[in-house]
Amino acid sequence: MITNRYLALDPKAYGLPDAEELRTLLAAYSPEFSPGAPDKERIPGRGKASYGERPPGGERVLGGEQATDGERIPYGERVPGGERATDGAYAPRVVPLSARTPAGAPENPYPVPAADLFAPSARVGNVPVEKIRADFPILEEKVSGHRLVWLDNAATTQKPRRVIERLEHYYRHENSNVHRGAHTLAERSTEAYEGAREKIARFIGAPDSDNIVFVRGTTEGINLVAQAYVKQFLRPGDEIILTVLEHHANIVPWQLLAEESGAVLRVAPVDDDGQIILSAYADLFNSRTRFVSASHVSNALGTVAPVEEMIALAHSHGTRICIDGAQSVSHMPVDMRAMDADFFVFSGHKIYGPTGIGVVYGKADVLEAARPYQGGGNMIADVTFAETVYREAPAKFEAGTGSIADAVGLGEAVDYVSSIGMQHIAAYEQELLAYGTKALSAVPGLTLIGTAARKASVLSFVSAGHSLEEVGKRLSAAGIAVRAGHHCAQPALRRFGLEGTVRPSLAFYNTREEIDLLADVLSKIAGGKARP
Ligand code: PLP
Repeated sequence: MITNRYLALDPKAYGLPDAEELRTLLAAYSPEFSPGAPDKERIPGRGKASYGERPPGGERVLGGEQATDGERIPYGERVPGGERATDGAYAPRVVPLSARTPAGAPENPYPVPAADLFAPSARVGNVPVEKIRADFPILEEKVSGHRLVWLDNAATTQKPRRVIERLEHYYRHENSNVHRGAHTLAERSTEAYEGAREKIARFIGAPDSDNIVFVRGTTEGINLVAQAYVKQFLRPGDEIILTVLEHHANIVPWQLLAEESGAVLRVAPVDDDGQIILSAYADLFNSRTRFVSASHVSNALGTVAPVEEMIALAHSHGTRICIDGAQSVSHMPVDMRAMDADFFVFSGHKIYGPTGIGVVYGKADVLEAARPYQGGGNMIADVTFAETVYREAPAKFEAGTGSIADAVGLGEAVDYVSSIGMQHIAAYEQELLAYGTKALSAVPGLTLIGTAARKASVLSFVSAGHSLEEVGKRLSAAGIAVRAGHHCAQPALRRFGLEGTVRPSLAFYNTREEIDLLADVLSKIAGGKARP
């Protein structure tokens, strides 16, 4: 484990063997993590120091220096008359208002220097972030007269050009139903569709493409697991374990099942930081426990759940477990063999792929034990009016014509993120999350909700004296898209006495400069000054 002031990072989450390798990887993103750098919490004599200040008797707080002359200070160079810059920070640049607002656009109530906003400040692996941004055409879009700042990635991610073009190519050159026709286009579409299944299997470390079932998304995936697999084992009084962090998609399907079967839902609690209390989770198991379903990353708080421990505990009680990977699969490497979940579900649209397509990964034995989810064409080997013989998994669960083009598009999306490297995406986003945590913590009246040691992507908060709607609208007026509301996770927020939060959520095309803009607008809303 490596810790800094904001995060505790687990090498396993990056697919790396030890802390040293993780430190080397992270050093590329932030000097705070350079090899040999002491954990900040352990600097002797370190008092309270705010962003960029020197703590009494301690070391300079790294990674937050501000230059003073309006120019970008390259890494390691000295600001005239100042300190050595250690993070290539951008200086605040004074740009006249007239130069900030495009002609004819409504005036931005929260202007920032446009030149600084998308400056090349960072790399994701070997790729400069501005090159990554150029892969996403929608990031050029103007909203309220301002360049779009997309911080609603937990709701859905934007699509790279190659995914958009892959969909077009499919419809122009390959469109046909799969599996059925004995003609060239049927061959092409079947090859593309099954090729996508293989790419996804490789991407999540599944043993075989037969472990991959295409569905519409996480919601349909969890309904499939509940109805096709768990339902057959339930008797009145049996128990299913969830956690308080679940998205409604991982609550309501189980409630429907409990209503039908007389089963009971048990809920693992979280502590005040939003972390699963593992001992309380362990205490929920008993002889009536039949199944566990839990999210890998909370969409409302960003907590990364200790799924390895949760899975091992479930298995030690002979209980099967489903992991909702909707919010994890785009933010960290996942490996099914290492994770050992029985089911893992996710949505294509949250990992830069199309809407209308998602995945249920299942171990071979659970897929075999599961009954068909829906009946129809494609999933049968033989039909008579007396009886039907089903095909093997995954075909058994894919009745009717699926979202063929979208599956192909999802295959392209996982190729795209793989070409950058999920470990690099994770490291870049962790650094950005730490930066965002620091920036938002400095906004007057703002309280972050969800302060777990292991988090991904999400910066949920409430702002004293300002409604969620007001904050959401005023951010939108500045071109910044965030979600404001209950995020389909009401029990998770009610645990903190809240009905909703404002939720910026990060992806690897976001930048420090966008976070700065967000923090500046929030400071203005709070009535405070924008940061210098
Ligand atoms: N689970 C989690 C953790 C989510 O964040 C979401 C969507 O936000 C879902 C499930 C449902 O995903 P979908 O609407 O794509 O089915």
